[in-house]
Amino acid sequence: MSDHVHLMNLPEKARKLDEADVLRAKRADFVLDDTVYLDGNSLGALPAAVPGRMADVVAREWGRLRIRSWTESGWWTSPERIGDRIAPLVGAAPGQIVVGDSTSVNVFKALVGAARMAHAERDEIVVDATTFPTDGYIAESAARMTGRRVVAVDPSELRTAFGPRTAAALVNHVDYRSGRLHDLPGLTAAAHAAGALVVWDLCHSAGALPVGLDAHGVDLAVGCTYKYLNGGPGSPAFLYVREDLQPRFDSPLPGWNSHRDPFGMSPRYEAADGAPRGRVGTPDILSMLALEAALEVWDEVPIEAVRDKSLALTDFFLECVTAYLPAGRVESITPVPHAERGSQVALRCADAGEVMDALIARGVVGDYRRPDVLRFGFTPLYVSFADAERAARVLAEVISTR
Ligand SMILES: *Cc1c(COP(=O)(O)O)cnc(C)c1O
Repeated sequence: MSDHVHLMNLPEKARKLDEADVLRAKRADFVLDDTVYLDGNSLGALPAAVPGRMADVVAREWGRLRIRSWTESGWWTSPERIGDRIAPLVGAAPGQIVVGDSTSVNVFKALVGAARMAHAERDEIVVDATTFPTDGYIAESAARMTGRRVVAVDPSELRTAFGPRTAAALVNHVDYRSGRLHDLPGLTAAAHAAGALVVWDLCHSAGALPVGLDAHGVDLAVGCTYKYLNGGPGSPAFLYVREDLQPRFDSPLPGWNSHRDPFGMSPRYEAADGAPRGRVGTPDILSMLALEAALEVWDEVPIEAVRDKSLALTDFFLECVTAYLPAGRVESITPVPHAERGSQVALRCADAGEVMDALIARGVVGDYRRPDVLRFGFTPLYVSFADAERAARVLAEVISTR
């Protein structure tokens, strides 16, 4: 009986939490339907401002103004302009972020750039052993190019892994599988104490939680814009190089866009000052401007409010999972303490692939990572507490019918 009452109360609790949600009006800024979309940690939902803006970019800026748009429509300066728009979301002052190229390419630029700033006697590049594969692959190549070797370290042991041989480290802020949040301030300080530089990968934290790049003295960082920043499929990534390191940043991809005087067409390379030094070639304008329009949803949104709602959502989802599912059918691998949790919940579950297919067929979209992990991303601008409750309820139905 008391169990029954408890179960009945969760939809009611969801309704109350949604009523009190200070971000609830933001849902109207997105194109949503009646599915519960919990895959915004892979591809963010479409912001409603994007289609109209894209129609204008294509028909007017490209169709009519053509080449004039590089100056008249601000195309040429868009990588830095949009970088400055992302900056407050990750705690960076203007002039340190440039947008362009994929995350993978920016990991390469940042890590080789960091390694080139280190003394040659420092012969190791430290990476977190649980990293998203592309970061590990690129670290291997960066190490070979700069005459170093990669040392893969479990994130729990990173703090003591930095030493006199560490040239640079590449660390994920949030683990893409488990949703574990790593200690950015503490690990950055530990690396600095050892005389090493750290490149932070913000793919699963930018737009999900406060990062505090400047406040914590982060050296370099890269991040994705098609996840929590809703920039659209394949939207360009961003690169942060701290202002005082910019003069020492020696890009391994010094394309003409990063030249001090790109239209001087000089045969001799001279790096631009500041954030443009991180550019490579001609920016991908259509994706770039879709991202710019997508970023409008962040106007007046404090990232702290996003973090508060994110934690409330993941707490509530876990509460519903515990209430609705038979004990032992799933196991959360996402840390319980808020200080160690990003904005997703990962549940280990038998037949995870088939379970996720069944969830998607019933209108609850998450994803799964082999071999046995269900991932549910919580994007506070458009996911509601009712969504969290429904996702857990449908998961319980799917699991009980298997
Ligand atoms: C999503 C993600 C990427 C994606 O890299 P792309 O070059 O955009 O394909 C890279 N690293 C991490 C940690 C990610 O989560």
